[in-house]
Amino acid sequence: MTDAWMDGCPFCRIVRGETDTRILYQDDLVTAFPDIRPIAPYHFLIVPNVHLESVNEVEPAHEAALGRMFSVARRLAEDYHVTHSGYRLIVNTGPHAGQSVFHLHMHFIAGRHMPFRA
Ligand code: 5GP
Ligand code: ZN
Repeated sequence: MTDAWMDGCPFCRIVRGETDTRILYQDDLVTAFPDIRPIAPYHFLIVPNVHLESVNEVEPAHEAALGRMFSVARRLAEDYHVTHSGYRLIVNTGPHAGQSVFHLHMHFIAGRHMPFRA
């Protein structure tokens, strides 16, 4: 991935604090923020701070960040009181899955019934 492309990556820009996106959580490994086009009352994105295009670029060195993404999902569920009502975590990868932003991200979706089942 070229530096020039990363400069334009919308999620890298959010991670670097270059936008007015509301940051829900950030640490040394991951950042969480609201999806700009929410499909549910609670629709957040959790991303590794490092630029990975998709799961296809994941290596063992990234496991700490990927594990942290799940810890943050649990934390968001508690913060927004959906631990028991439930939530869905989605990582779209590639064209068939409809991935549209090529910085790996986990959708956190909650607050309504989700009839579609994988
Ligand atoms: P994908 O389809 O790649 O899994 O999901 C990308 C998601 O990123 C979409 O739900 C879209 O609404 C969201 N998104 C795209 N650009 C931005 C942005 O600049 N800011 C935020 N907060 N969300 C974005
Ligand atoms: Zn990026």
